[in-house]
Amino acid sequence: MRGFLPILAAVGNMTKTLGFFDSDAPRHYHCAPMVMQERLPTNFDPFRLADAGRELRGQLGLEGMDRLAPGLADRAAVVAVELKFGVDSEKFRYISGRVWTTLTLLCQRCMQPVAVPVDKTVSLGIVPSADAAESLQPGYDPLIVDTPLVALATIIEDELLLAVPMVPMHPPGSCEAVVLLVEKPVPVKKESPFAVLARLKDPS
Ligand SMILES: [Zn+2]
Repeated sequence: MRGFLPILAAVGNMTKTLGFFDSDAPRHYHCAPMVMQERLPTNFDPFRLADAGRELRGQLGLEGMDRLAPGLADRAAVVAVELKFGVDSEKFRYISGRVWTTLTLLCQRCMQPVAVPVDKTVSLGIVPSADAAESLQPGYDPLIVDTPLVALATIIEDELLLAVPMVPMHPPGSCEAVVLLVEKPVPVKKESPFAVLARLKDPS
């Protein structure tokens, strides 16, 4: 649990701006003098962390999340991560927890940036193969680990990809560009001045 409270302080500051928590909720950590970050590993062995019952808490940028990048209007997001590793009563190794952030995506109605809060519950069963994934309990998404180490960013990116809307849009009625488009008068189809001229010259 070392580092738990200071990191909550960092997450608290972030969630305040994201509006996930009631802003009237009591803050027990407002007096924390400095924000300490637990160092998140770049790569790790999920089996070993599960056997050790480890927890990972901290923040992560979007660097290296190349599958997520094409949908982003801005890459400068910070993802808060809380993951608990363990072994369940059926002897399955798991990762449970939560990842949350606000991503700036492109509104598919007006093509302007739209801030989309993402809050994803993580429930992964760590398995060595697709065959082993078949026997996982319902409620676990399989995390197939067939290499000695996996990248934390890849796991977080998978979770974010599952959570982002397929077609991100501003709330109905709040796309400025679309309102302008709708209010723009439809041009009245006019006869070409050359056609008028031609009729005047040859009135037959
Ligand atoms: Zn829009």
